[in-house]
Amino acid sequence: MPDGPYFSPEIETMGRGDLDALIDERVRYTVQYAADHSPFYRHWFREHRINPDEIRVHEDLLRLPLISGKTIRENQPPVTPEFRFLSTDWSNVFTIQETSGTSGTPKGFFLTSDDWKRYAEKYARSFISQGFSSRDRIVICASYGMSVGANTMTVAAHKIGMGVIPIGKCSFDSRILRNYRPTAIVGSVFKLLRLGRRLNAEGVKPSDIAVDKLVAGGESFAEESRKYLSEKWDCPVFNTYGSTEGSMCGECTRLNGLHVPEDIVHLDVYDPRLGSYVPDGECGRAILTTLLPVGGKSGMLLLNYDTEDTTVILSRNKCECGRTHMRIYNPQREAETAWIFDNAMNRVDVEAAVFQTENMEDLTGEYESFIDEGEVPGEEVLRISVECLDTGKCNRKGITDRVIDRFLKYKPGLALEYVEGNLKIAITFTEPGGLELFHQKGRPRRLIDRRKKA
Ligand SMILES: [Zn+2]
Repeated sequence: MPDGPYFSPEIETMGRGDLDALIDERVRYTVQYAADHSPFYRHWFREHRINPDEIRVHEDLLRLPLISGKTIRENQPPVTPEFRFLSTDWSNVFTIQETSGTSGTPKGFFLTSDDWKRYAEKYARSFISQGFSSRDRIVICASYGMSVGANTMTVAAHKIGMGVIPIGKCSFDSRILRNYRPTAIVGSVFKLLRLGRRLNAEGVKPSDIAVDKLVAGGESFAEESRKYLSEKWDCPVFNTYGSTEGSMCGECTRLNGLHVPEDIVHLDVYDPRLGSYVPDGECGRAILTTLLPVGGKSGMLLLNYDTEDTTVILSRNKCECGRTHMRIYNPQREAETAWIFDNAMNRVDVEAAVFQTENMEDLTGEYESFIDEGEVPGEEVLRISVECLDTGKCNRKGITDRVIDRFLKYKPGLALEYVEGNLKIAITFTEPGGLELFHQKGRPRRLIDRRKKA
């Protein structure tokens, strides 16, 4: 059982030249595998007049078109009679997974036992990079079922020899933490914040329990909310970015970006307007390509898949942890980006404005925001609602000023519109449980654009 510092030392610390050569070898094999085994790709290569043999190195992937979640949905029932992305015989399929379906029909994914090994490897590397070992015992709050996350973490824990408490949700009794003394919890930032508040209300302090690491995943978050969560739990919070589609990146103990397991998933950052990759350090869409080792088999693979998440490649240089695999900035959902007067803003910008240390003396951290048309033409209104611990004692003036200042701080275009009176920002305060999102089903939406589309 590997007890760190690496799960697969040879590959995780491989020099850039060797790693790039390995990636290119896998690009060639994977493209050929797709052409040979996937009805969708066989047709796709023909339709776009691409000879799979001509895709030799990872840069050649740019010559291939992008696909998206929509492409997958259009190539599975009920649109087509068969699952056209299925790239193996049904008898080789070990599990069938689905994406959550928040943006339409769930996408079906087929995993062979080979795929499972690679999915678990990605999580195992991430756990080890965060200091996990066979001595750890982890509560898994992510839901089991058809999404791949919780199950993969469990298999990864088995590989590491780590204990698992497979609760599958964050609304568990605090006796779990007191009696079984887990050392870590994996869940979403907001669920971990709520769990912390509940423990606090029950009089349980971080020092009463054994948790010394939290792993956050499932949604992007502001650095400010991570800092707050880390203070409340008095332990580090590690970020992860995983999906059923196969992205699984994790922060190591250095907390300087998420390592991409480059030998298993290839990630490009792309600018849809330019139709090209953006240079390292610039923001673009994360495009992923499954990589199979030569001889490997897969139930479903993706080439040039547009995740619709935005990110930045921070570095391809060796990390202080010794890993050579590239690091990316915490990805944000494009669906949570809105445009006001031609300026982009993301849900996470609102979160950063809310989660400032002084605000958090009065707030729970729960928030939601709306963009509306103003009362006069050419006016737009950003409404931010925050939940107070006690509406009677909340410093409304101080919070309002700080939220607006922080929100506009890195948005000079919007700051100008605000000064000129075209952009109004309204902060409202609710009692606990008073936000609209508590009445919604599914994943809470914290930034809702209610303007009529032009
Ligand atoms: Zn590192």
